[in-house]
Amino acid sequence: VAKRGGRAQVTMFDAAMSEAVSRRKQLEDWLRVAIDENELSVHYQPKLQMDGHTVDGAEALLRWKRPDGSQVSPGEFIPVAEESGLIVPLGRWVLMRVLAQIATWKSQGFESPRISVNVSANQFLDENFLRSFLEILDGSSTPASHLDLEITESALMTTPDHAVSVLTTLRARGITVSLDDFGTGYSSLGYLKRFPVNSIKIDHSFVVDLVEDRDSARLVKAVIGMTHSLGLLFVAEGVENKRQLALLRDWECDLYQGHLTSPAIDPDAFRAFCMARSRD
Ligand code: C2E
Ligand code: MG
Ligand code: MG
Ligand code: MG
Repeated sequence: VAKRGGRAQVTMFDAAMSEAVSRRKQLEDWLRVAIDENELSVHYQPKLQMDGHTVDGAEALLRWKRPDGSQVSPGEFIPVAEESGLIVPLGRWVLMRVLAQIATWKSQGFESPRISVNVSANQFLDENFLRSFLEILDGSSTPASHLDLEITESALMTTPDHAVSVLTTLRARGITVSLDDFGTGYSSLGYLKRFPVNSIKIDHSFVVDLVEDRDSARLVKAVIGMTHSLGLLFVAEGVENKRQLALLRDWECDLYQGHLTSPAIDPDAFRAFCMARSRD
């Protein structure tokens, strides 16, 4: 009986595995055509100052709507894009979209704040990343000073010397750099000092239990102090309530993003959001 039960479990496990594998394969096939079929768009989540009002920038976040109307979240398709190599053309597309959007906003009389673009590890590690990035930038009318790059520590730590050199080149062009999802990778203080970054974005998992969990609270407070000692800005993501915001403000967090103020919204909505706030 035990043996048969074991076999049944293995079969169920296999079934679950192959289901996950075929879902990934299916997403990969869909993603291959998604750009050309116009299924992807870029939304913008405001980055705010701690007064909860002044817009300091925005993070560009991919959105994917399938022809059947369903949404696939980046949490699901970005890893697929990374594993399949599709992240390279996808990343180029996002950069072009963002630069074109900034120009469109400008033509509408809206001077947008700095826009942060996420760069995944396999995108950053691609040997043509820097050349391709600069080519796209130089081909657009948007100055580099409108851009910020969000990159994770793990992406930088794979080939640290190379990372330092790429980031230094980008920084020299006026692009700023944010260390994304801080606290989830192998945070090394040595590298933190070496990498030419402007700000540190703590992962939202630390912000979630800021109010309830004293250890998380102490940790965040300490990281804010460390960030400032290094002369960097501290950014909190995933701020969902006023108590979190109040604590972060007390600890002199510099900027935040979160559903408390706004999720990622489409370009027209973002322009309206900023215009409404600059009037008063
Ligand atoms: P991320 O860069 O850490 O982005 C922050 C995520 O937190 C976003 O999820 C955002 O929508 C979400 N978020 C912001 N505020 C709140 C909040 O108050 N509560 C909650 N629960 N969530 C909040 P999203 O848009 O699903 O993106 C997930 C991840 O996918 C991103 O994490 C990023 O790593 C990746 N991603 C998204 N767009 C791109 C892109 O254009 N290129 C690359 N390479 N990666 C992207
Ligand atoms: Mg990010
Ligand atoms: Mg993040
Ligand atoms: Mg994150």
